[in-house]
Amino acid sequence: MSVKGKVVVITGASSGIGAATAKKLADHGARLFVGARHAQPLQDLVTTVQAAGGTIASQPVDVTQETSVKAFITAAHAHYGRLDVVYNNAGIMPNSPLSEGRVADWEAAFQVNVMGVLYGIAAALPIMKRQGFGQFIATDSNAGHVINPNAAVYAGTKFALRAIMDALRQEEGPHMIRSTMISPGNVTTNLWQSVGNTGLRQAVRQREAAIGLRPEDVANAVLYAIDQPEDVGIDEILLRPTVQQN
Ligand code: NDP
Repeated sequence: MSVKGKVVVITGASSGIGAATAKKLADHGARLFVGARHAQPLQDLVTTVQAAGGTIASQPVDVTQETSVKAFITAAHAHYGRLDVVYNNAGIMPNSPLSEGRVADWEAAFQVNVMGVLYGIAAALPIMKRQGFGQFIATDSNAGHVINPNAAVYAGTKFALRAIMDALRQEEGPHMIRSTMISPGNVTTNLWQSVGNTGLRQAVRQREAAIGLRPEDVANAVLYAIDQPEDVGIDEILLRPTVQQN
């Protein structure tokens, strides 16, 4: 089965990569169920996709709350009667030097970027195992491969995701459940807004505006990973702006 007709659930769909991916997949005939905390941008996305003839529904979700994620996945499954892809994409990047001791930011980063993905897996894996098919996708990062100053905790969350997603691949691949990481370098989105340190926040914003990939470039990678035959597992796609060194 190609992407056409597949039921795809996306977290972090109120902006950036998640929103662009929802539009791209809907254009290719997927049936979308999208979530994030803010209801209005989700509703705007639903309106845009439906106006273009796409199939989409939404429900607010806070990925830091297991009950919220479970309700979200359950609603998606009830809405369409199947789950082909769960794309755990929501993330934050509250970068700062460790010396600033922003413990609350560190906790939030692990809660959203790591526990949010694990809650998605916990909610959807039993459904996929009953179906006998499915695919998990997570937005990792080049920060899951390289470490830079000020990104210790963010990189820690993305390194952790690589461990989780590759173990999931090994455990569930034999049961025809695929696991894919999409790992972008700089992308021009709203992610800079989650950077806690003011100076760094502006630097990230400027760098992403100057060289960043478009969210649609990342959406193309997601489309490719979903669209492959079921016996082809795309473990990871790492994509950077051509001019980005690491
Ligand atoms: P955006 O800030 O544009 O989007 C982040 C999304 O995550 C929003 O939809 C936001 O929605 C959602 N989100 C944040 N916290 C929560 C939460 N607690 N519960 C539910 N949703 C939440 O950034 P991007 O599109 O860039 O980020 C998407 C992913 O891409 C992240 O995992 C990020 O780490 C990763 N990434 C981004 C790169 C970049 O350069 N931009 C590079 C590499 C990876 P809301 O606020 O409405 O909840």
